[in-house]
Amino acid sequence: MKRPIDGFVFDLDGTVYLGEAALPGAVAGIKALRQRNKRVLFVSNKPLEPRQAYAAKLTRLGIPTREAEVITSAFVLGHHLARTEPELNYYVIGEENLLAELRSHGLKVVPELLEQDPKDVIEPEGIDAVVVAFDRTLDYRKLNTAYQALLQGARFFATNADKACPMPGGSIPDAGATITALEHITGRSLEMIAGKPSSLITQVALDRLELPAERCMMVGDRLETDILMGQQAGMATAVTLTGVSSREDVATMDTPPDYVVENIGEIPDLIE
Ligand SMILES: [Mg+2]
Repeated sequence: MKRPIDGFVFDLDGTVYLGEAALPGAVAGIKALRQRNKRVLFVSNKPLEPRQAYAAKLTRLGIPTREAEVITSAFVLGHHLARTEPELNYYVIGEENLLAELRSHGLKVVPELLEQDPKDVIEPEGIDAVVVAFDRTLDYRKLNTAYQALLQGARFFATNADKACPMPGGSIPDAGATITALEHITGRSLEMIAGKPSSLITQVALDRLELPAERCMMVGDRLETDILMGQQAGMATAVTLTGVSSREDVATMDTPPDYVVENIGEIPDLIE
C-alpha cells in the first residue's frame, strides 16, 4: 500500500552521502520527490559545520539545497537554549563552528580557562552549564574543565550522543564517547540532547515542513537515532541500507521501520 506522504526528512551521512560522494539513488530519488512537489529537509547530528556548508555540499553533489532546508544538532541546541536558558554561561566541549552557532543565538560562551594548569583541580569559575559535542580537538584541559564544572553542579547538555561518526573507511569517536566519560567520572546524567533522536530536532523539522507528522517520512541509515526519532514523532520511517544498518539489524527490532530500502532511489515508488 502506498502512503500519502508530502514531506521528507533525510539524514545525511550514510543516507544521502558518504564523505565527498553522493550515495547511489540519492540524487535521482530526491529530484523525483521534488518534481512531485514533495517538501524535503536534511538533518544532521554533526555540529562541525554551519548549515550553509551542508547546503553547499549537497548542491555540489547534485542536490540543490538552501540553508533553510538543513537542520543540524548545533542549530537546534542554540535555538532551544536561547528560548529556555538564555542567561546561562556555557562551557563548550566542541569545535569552533558550535561556539559560533551558540553565540549567533545570543548565548554566552565561557572562554577556555587557559590560565589554569589543566593538571590541577581547576576552578570552573563562571560556568553554569556544560555543552558536549563532537570535538576532534578534545584534550585533557577540556575534559578536566567540564568535569570540575559538573562536580559543582553545572547543567549538562549535548548536541548529539552518537558513539562514533562514520567516515570513509571506518568511523571515529563522536560526542557519545565524551558524554559517557563525563557521566562515568561525575556520576551525573546528561540532561538533554538536541540532535536525533530527541524530540527537539523533530519539532524543528516538522515546524519547517509545516506538515503533520503522519504526512511525513523520516529516512535514515541508523535505527537507534533516525528511525527511532521518526517513530516517536509518528512519522512514516524508511531505513536505507547504504550506511550502518543491515537487514539483519532490522530483523532484531521489536518495532521495525515501515520500509527497508537499498537506497533513496526506491523512496518515490513507496508513496502517493
Ligand atoms: Mg547517518
